[in-house]
Order: sequence, then structure tokens, then C-alpha cells
Amino acid sequence: MGDTLDLLFDLTPPTQEQMRELVADLSQDERRLLLEHGEEAPFCGVFLDEKRKGLYTCRLCGLPLFKAVSKFESGTGWPSFTAPVARSHLRRVQDTRYGMTRTEIVCARCGAHQGHVFPDGPPPTGERFCINSGSLAFTPNGQPLPNKLGRGDPEGEPVD
Ligand SMILES: [Zn+2]
Repeated sequence: MGDTLDLLFDLTPPTQEQMRELVADLSQDERRLLLEHGEEAPFCGVFLDEKRKGLYTCRLCGLPLFKAVSKFESGTGWPSFTAPVARSHLRRVQDTRYGMTRTEIVCARCGAHQGHVFPDGPPPTGERFCINSGSLAFTPNGQPLPNKLGRGDPEGEPVD
């Protein structure tokens, strides 16, 4: 993954027009998941067994959120990561729904719901990012990153 961490991504939120276009691309299930704080059933997400190297990006706006090397088998049935690509790429929101206090994770750029973070992860961070497969897209090493907002390099450029 080399220097991916050092790449600078434009975190300016999508315009209303861009948001409308991105949302128009989503299925009903994806809308529920990404925009209405949905949660997918465990052990059915498409990325649960994904083992290739690469980058996981926000399904809605294409911002890289997690490196494949930070993915681990948590046994929970959801893709789990120990750390984000960059802290600035995720926003933490207190979530008190269902009578629990949890920390919700949303994409820092477009606000799409990703999952939750828990303080019971493995070293070195001790954090467990529990993410819905449907909130993510995957770019294997060597393939170009999504460029959904037309921002250009490093978006649209191959991951190496
Ligand atoms: Zn996003």
C-alpha cells in the first residue's frame, strides 16, 4: 500500500446536486443502509471473506476509509477493521438508539452511515470498526480508485 496514507484526499462534502446523483445510483437496500442508519444481517455481507490487498472506500462518495491490511476476523459476522485509512476520513457520532450508547461511524465527506466503533479491538489501536459490507466498495491493489465526485488524483488513480 506504500504511501496511500500520505495521499491527500479532498474532504469537501459533495454538492446537493452531486448528492442527488450519488443517491439515485443506490438500490433500496443501499439507501436504507447508507442514509437511514440501517444494519445488515451478520454473516451475509459480500466483504466478510474478502482477503485481497487494497482499499475499502465509501460506497456512496468513493472516499477511502479502510486499508485491507487493517481488516481482521472478529467473529461478529461483519467486516471488522482496527483502524481507518486516516482519522480525518471518518466522523464519530454518539448513537443512543435501541437503548444503547454506541459510537456510530459515518463517512467524513458525505455523511453516509458505515457502522460502529467499539473499544474491544486488537492491538495496536484497541479499536474495532464494525462496518456494513453494503456501506463499502473495494478496490484491489493495481485497480483505479473510484472518482465519483470528479475530484481527480489521487481519486481515479490505481492503488499500489
Ligand atoms: Zn462518503
